[in-house]
Amino acid sequence: MTLYHLVFCLHTIKYVFADVNFATTPSLGHPSTHPWKFQASLDYGFLARLLGATPDGVLACLHSCLFSPMSDASFTVFISPKDRTCATCKSPILTGALYCARAGQKDVSCTGCEGLGDHLLLPSGNVALTRRATKHSAVAHPVFWGVKRRNRFERRGTLVEARALQLAEAECEADEAERAVKRAKDAVRREIQDQAYTAHFAGRIKELYPSIPEGKHEVIALHACQKHSGRVGRRATAREEADDESICLAVRAHIRHTETPYDNLLAKKHAKEDARAAVLSTVNRVEAQWQRRRL
Ligand SMILES: [Zn+2]
Repeated sequence: MTLYHLVFCLHTIKYVFADVNFATTPSLGHPSTHPWKFQASLDYGFLARLLGATPDGVLACLHSCLFSPMSDASFTVFISPKDRTCATCKSPILTGALYCARAGQKDVSCTGCEGLGDHLLLPSGNVALTRRATKHSAVAHPVFWGVKRRNRFERRGTLVEARALQLAEAECEADEAERAVKRAKDAVRREIQDQAYTAHFAGRIKELYPSIPEGKHEVIALHACQKHSGRVGRRATAREEADDESICLAVRAHIRHTETPYDNLLAKKHAKEDARAAVLSTVNRVEAQWQRRRL
């Protein structure tokens, strides 16, 4: 595989995801909800070794394929982790300053040489401001930072025209109150949806496990559907409709933790797999008891 093959594959992916606007994605930080999972979880170091390219060269290549709705530029902007020199004007690019890298090229250039001298870095975090500033900016570039420990690049902000940022800030200030009301309404709506979903989850447990001790179905549903927990009840497939597999997993997990010595085994430094194997028969037995139809 060569860099050429990678570019070809990515253009194919981009074609398949034609409806997905990669450019407006505010951050790489939420891979579970977005096709960015593809990029966020990619091991650039590995790809770079495989292709004989530098890691930022690989990202520049990915970026030129996936980000073209935002910028047609053939380069990607990075925050420099070390002092470098611009290959065009020979001026120094200090640690923490921005530089531009092109796919497949070792030489880098400063933002001034790529016509971005009057652009400002808008840090990630404010979705509305980023969306508006990007919209008003004739040219906008996402800015990446290489996280060595995780061996990947994370988006840290967007390079936008100073004028566009001013305009966006004024717009955000003008409708801040309106957006705050909308945020509060959305939070209430989500809370109501969550409660309804948890109640539905609990009801389905009761249907599948008619002999479950009184009140346990509610405890299990609350635990499995707890926000930001990443537990079975929160997973995308489970949320579509409380699917029976997720419910079984939640019930079995509850049995494991409350009806068996599983937690004690873990506390005594037993491996997770061994501890699970040791309590498996008890879990099966209790589950069968709870599944029994009441006469
Ligand atoms: Zn330069």
